[in-house]
Parts: sequence; structure tokens; C-alpha cells
Amino acid sequence: MKKVGVFTSGGDAPGMNAAIRAVVRCGNAQGVEVWGIHSGHRGLIENKFNKMDSRSVGNIIQRGGTILGTARCKEFKTEAGLKQAVRNLEQHGVEGLVAIGGDGTYRGMIELLKVWKGHAVGVPGTIDNDIYGTDETIGFNTAINTALEAIDKIRDTADAHERFFIVEVMGRHAGFIALNVAIGGGAEEMIIPEVKTDLKAIAEHMREGREGGKRSSIVVVAEGNDIGGAAKIAEELKKLSGFDYRVVILGHIQRGGSPTALDRRLATKLGAFAIELLSKGTSGVAAGELNGKRVATSLEDTVSKKKELDAYLQKLVPILSR
Ligand code: ATP
Repeated sequence: MKKVGVFTSGGDAPGMNAAIRAVVRCGNAQGVEVWGIHSGHRGLIENKFNKMDSRSVGNIIQRGGTILGTARCKEFKTEAGLKQAVRNLEQHGVEGLVAIGGDGTYRGMIELLKVWKGHAVGVPGTIDNDIYGTDETIGFNTAINTALEAIDKIRDTADAHERFFIVEVMGRHAGFIALNVAIGGGAEEMIIPEVKTDLKAIAEHMREGREGGKRSSIVVVAEGNDIGGAAKIAEELKKLSGFDYRVVILGHIQRGGSPTALDRRLATKLGAFAIELLSKGTSGVAAGELNGKRVATSLEDTVSKKKELDAYLQKLVPILSR
């Protein structure tokens, strides 16, 4: 393999830059030219290809976001869009692609490989951690640390004023961020998409906590839940318990910021692994890390199989908040 393209797609995640850097430098070390494709799948269609070298990825390992930009691109889901992407890849002589993103990004590669003769490898870059075939995704560790920093601050004021807070974190379809933040922030309750919500039980738990001497209580809520947003939950809980709940929606701050050491390490490892896989002629897989070991999982499996939440941690949330 002489020429490889790299792009970032879907939601940006801290550590994407560290992954790009590893792809470029590990590729170059093996004599492979690496071309950066700007704005994700859109750049493949709009022919936004630029040759990268070692210097072009200098001083980016610590930066959040992605120097290649990212975009959501509906045209990539059409036959015309895919064909245009193939024409551009062929025109540049790109034989392999490293796609850094979430499950949508992977689905795009599965479709591309049906019409393109080249090779493609995915790298899991999303704060949501909802990708099968890797224990953690790039950006997840930074996102939970950012959310925890905010929760620690909320806890200070909650404790001082004896208040109840509902804190909404990201996670439209999965509760990985909420669960880890609930454990790390000592939350009293957690509402996640994977579990049916029992608001009466939560209201009762809040009341017991207050009567038992708790000065503050925090309910961590994933944005995708069966009640409908933090404000609605606060309203319903007030009706059931009589207490007022302050609402904080952490939103996009969870996406930004300098990646943690763990995210830089994971991104570096998986970016390097992606180049290793391509240079061996492997295609249609995603690079991942399971129990500390590098593992390649078929793209089909990563999009069709569900990664489970840690059941042990889930059981601990109500026990630890008594
Ligand atoms: P995140 O989970 O962090 O948002 P993601 O990679 O899942 O990341 P998506 O917006 O779902 O983000 O997907 C990114 C892009 O992948 C889409 O904008 C689209 O261009 C492409 N894509 C997604 N699904 C398909 C598909 N079935 N066929 C072709 N392209 C697709």
C-alpha cells in the first residue's frame, strides 16, 4: 500500500487529532503517503484531499476537536454520492482509508466498500463509547472527566444550599457517560436509556436521603431517556416529592477540551494499529482495544452488535448513594 487517506466524521471527540497524528507518522515511517480528507464523508465527495506529512501533525496531540474538520453528510448515503467518492479516491490513487468516527462513520465505510476496490479500517472516535469491539472509544475518557469536573462544582453549591440537582449529560442512545459520571460523581440517582425509569422510586429515594441527613442530591440523566429531558424530569419529580430541582444541561462542553492522557494513548495506539492493519492488507474492520490488547472487529459486527453497560457498576449506583 502506497497511498492512504484519513478522515474524521460524525461528532468530534477529544483525541481525534492524536489519532490523525499516529496515522500520518506511522504511515510515513513505512513509506506510505498519507492524505488528509477534510470534513469527513463530505470531503470524500467534494474532493477535499491534501497530502499530509510529519510536520503537518506537529503540536496537535494535545488539541481537542479535529484539524481535519468533521461533518454530517446525507449525500454519502446515496448511490451518486458513493460513486463520486470512488471517482475521487481513484483519481488520487488512494488505496486505503482510515475512518475515525462513530457507528455512522463505520456504516458509511461498509457502503463504500461495496462499490470501491480499496481497503478501509475504522478507528472508534466518539465520546459516547457506544461502539462494539473496543472497551473504550477515543474521547470518552475526556468527556467523563469534563462532566465530572462540572459535577464536582455543582456538588459544592448543592451542598452549601441543601439543593437537589438534575444534571443532563450526553448519550442519546447509550448510558455509558451517565453511568461513569454517576459513579465518579457519587450521584444519588441515574436515568439512562437502557433502563425503564421509575420516577416514584427516585422521588422516594430523594425524600429518604433528605430525612436521613443528606445535604445535597444529584440525579445524573442521559439525554436519551424515556421521560423526555432534564426539565421534564425536574417537573415530574417536584410533583412527586414536593422538592425543587435545579437543572443543569452540560451539553457541548463535554465534547471539547484537551484530551486526557488515556485518550491520547488510546488514539495513538489505535491510529498506529489502523496503519498496521492496512499494510497487512486487512480491510472492513475496526481497530479496537479489549482488555489492553489490540483487536480488529469486522465493521459489520461493530454496527450490528450491542456493547453492554458494565452491570456491576450499574448495581453499585443505588448501593453507594444510600
Ligand atoms: P457520533 O456517534 O459521534 O455522532 P457517527 O460516526 O455515528 O459519530 P453519524 O452522523 O451517525 O456520526 O455518521 C457520520 C456520517 O457517516 C454521516 O453523516 C454519513 O455521511 C455517514 N453515514 C452514516 N450512515 C451511513 C450509511 N448507512 N451509508 C452511508 N453513509 C453513512
